[in-house]
Amino acid sequence: MAEPHWSRQLIFSVAGNPAVTRFVTRYGMRLGASRFVAGEDLDSALTVARQLNQEGFPLAIQFLGEHVTRAEAAAEAVEEYLRLLAALEERGIDAYISIKPSQMGLEVDEELAYANCRRILEQTAAAGRFVRIEMEDSPYTEKTLRLYRRLRETFGTRDVGIVLQAYLYRSARDLEELADLHPNIRFVKGAYNEPASVAYPDKADVDRNYRQLVQRHLERGDYAAIATHDDVLIEDLLQFIEQRGIPRDRFEFQMLYGIRPQLQRQVRDRGYRMRVYIPYGRDWYGYFVRRLAERPANVGFVLRNLIRG
Ligand code: FAD
Repeated sequence: MAEPHWSRQLIFSVAGNPAVTRFVTRYGMRLGASRFVAGEDLDSALTVARQLNQEGFPLAIQFLGEHVTRAEAAAEAVEEYLRLLAALEERGIDAYISIKPSQMGLEVDEELAYANCRRILEQTAAAGRFVRIEMEDSPYTEKTLRLYRRLRETFGTRDVGIVLQAYLYRSARDLEELADLHPNIRFVKGAYNEPASVAYPDKADVDRNYRQLVQRHLERGDYAAIATHDDVLIEDLLQFIEQRGIPRDRFEFQMLYGIRPQLQRQVRDRGYRMRVYIPYGRDWYGYFVRRLAERPANVGFVLRNLIRG
């Protein structure tokens, strides 16, 4: 949300053009996606994961995929997550798993997405690993919250968590309505192209809402994953945390692989839990576009890579 709304919208609209999609994906990750994506296969992700663990970063790992339209594709994603889980267990990697609901088939059928998440959670919960259900664009917010609530009928706060987006007007209400579950929530600003009818268009409003949501959640004693690269916001929240004497085991910071690595190290070096999010897989296009839209200056390095060939 650091950039004017129009430039974000322009990137989303150009990137949505099928010819652009074909061109960029044919060109491959060397156009710039490799800065944000750990690799196209599990082995590459595990290599990055081991390295980051050695540097003192716990991880959240996502197998890239979204807006799945066939049940078979969702089933393949489930299989990949189970392979990922087995590899994490075998190698003792400190990581949890992050899943997109539309990757589990939420667009096909809510029941299918629930069954797929359940299959994964049965294994991860038995292994004592956490799963984060991510939040996508606003047509899926309600369904995703329903999915989370349903999973919580079987699984605990320690097994599964959710995400709230500070740019949505509705998030303050959603936070209150979730309170009875004492959820583990990842707070983000929000990465999708949303209309002003559902999301604050101005960055200042998003930042204000972000502070309020995290503060309210922490005041209640619930666990917050503060997922942002905004150093001003981080300092403001740390001040609040210190004033209120909130213990360090009630929150963590999270940032994306490849974004502000120096800030990641600084936060780690101050003794806070700093989790790095690493995505991997061949379906990196949508993820890459969102990273460009967050910071249109990133388009510059794509063009430079293009010129270099
Ligand atoms: P901004 O104000 O956008 O950025 C602060 C500063 O960070 C910028 O000034 C810049 O220096 C740097 N920065 C930010 N983005 C970039 C970038 N792409 N490239 C280079 N520098 C950058 N969004 C969702 O909608 N759903 C999710 O489930 C979700 N999960 C996430 C998980 C994690 C761990 C993180 C860190 C983010 C996630 N997001 C998710 C993305 C989030 O919504 C924001 O789009 C993203 O984090 C950028 O916002 P910001 O908080 O860093 O603040």
